[in-house]
Amino acid sequence: PEAITVQELANRMAARGGEVVKALFRMGVMATLTQTIDADTAELVVNEFGHRVRRVSEADVEQGLEGVVDTDEELLPRPPVVTIMGHVDHGKTSLLDALRKTDVAGREAGGITQHIGAYQVTVEGGQKVTFIDTPGHAAFTAMRARGASVTDMVVLVVAADDGVMPQTIEAIHHAKAANVPLIVAVNKIDKEGVNLDRVRNELLQHEIVVESLGGDTMEIPVSATKAMNLDKLLEGILLQAEVLDLKANPMRAAEGTVIESKLDKGRGPVATVLVQRGTLRQGDLVVAGAEWGRVRAMLDDKGRQLKEADPSLPVEILGLSGVPSAGETFVAVENESRAREISEFRQRKLRDKQAAAAGAARGTLADMMA
Ligand code: GDP
Ligand code: MG
Repeated sequence: PEAITVQELANRMAARGGEVVKALFRMGVMATLTQTIDADTAELVVNEFGHRVRRVSEADVEQGLEGVVDTDEELLPRPPVVTIMGHVDHGKTSLLDALRKTDVAGREAGGITQHIGAYQVTVEGGQKVTFIDTPGHAAFTAMRARGASVTDMVVLVVAADDGVMPQTIEAIHHAKAANVPLIVAVNKIDKEGVNLDRVRNELLQHEIVVESLGGDTMEIPVSATKAMNLDKLLEGILLQAEVLDLKANPMRAAEGTVIESKLDKGRGPVATVLVQRGTLRQGDLVVAGAEWGRVRAMLDDKGRQLKEADPSLPVEILGLSGVPSAGETFVAVENESRAREISEFRQRKLRDKQAAAAGAARGTLADMMA
């Protein structure tokens, strides 16, 4: 069964964290905002707040509170979502391009691949892996700051001829902070005179102990440009995914996160979203951030029109009223009045937050002047 932090539960109910802590206290549960409570306890709290019908219903729509718990039978395996990180010029883009070409499902599609910031490949045997192409660690940080957890694991690209560099270390910190496992892809092994032991020892200095040194971090030597060992890397990712036992309920209204977005001259607001729960369908009404609209069209990274997108599939959606920001959540809702309600609720929240930030800024300014 699913667990939830007190803060998250409060957010979902649009209640103050302190109120939830108090409610828990009355129920004999001592918990702070950052602590996790189990689904049963969460449900009791929700009932406790039940007299505020409007709030609960708002939260209901806001985050699909009805389904705080997906039953075990409802949870089905989903593909892993992988973020590739590493120092500049160590081969992230090359590796993403090379992995994209391994897609057995996309081969016959031909077509020009669109750079939509995320794509899914099907490996031999039919298993799927989703890759997120963060244009830089900044995007990842921004998403994390918004509380969006999109990635299940990080593939850390380290160029064998260059070793551990500042952004390698940064990526290690990101993975640790996000509490996701890391797989090391030692890249450019096609180059002459590369020394894998050097890389291993440098990683060791940053508490990444690879398997060959007796640790539990998978390490896979690859060459992105020569397409060496890509199958091994995919195998490693799938193995790690198996350990993580990734699951989602596809039989519910879709929920997920905006990966990137833009205003397209011809097509209007376009958002790349990652479906994380439920199934998104063409024609669905969605709220993304504070924007909403009916999904007019849904496209994959090969520009193919899709009717449905299930958990872990990234898709481009058209039809939103405006451009949501990366890291914001989206949710499919049943009617326009609910869409408006959540959108207004989120706009209000955004204004409150901006006002609070402005207040804080004034405070510091005043402090500085004093
Ligand atoms: P990014 O900055 O991490 O995205 O790195 P890129 O993918 O842009 O690669 C930087 C440079 O390294 C480019 O010139 C690539 O052609 C080269 N490169 C990437 N992977 C390999 C590899 O496996 N072997 C060799 N020899 N060169 C590579
Ligand atoms: Mg790049």
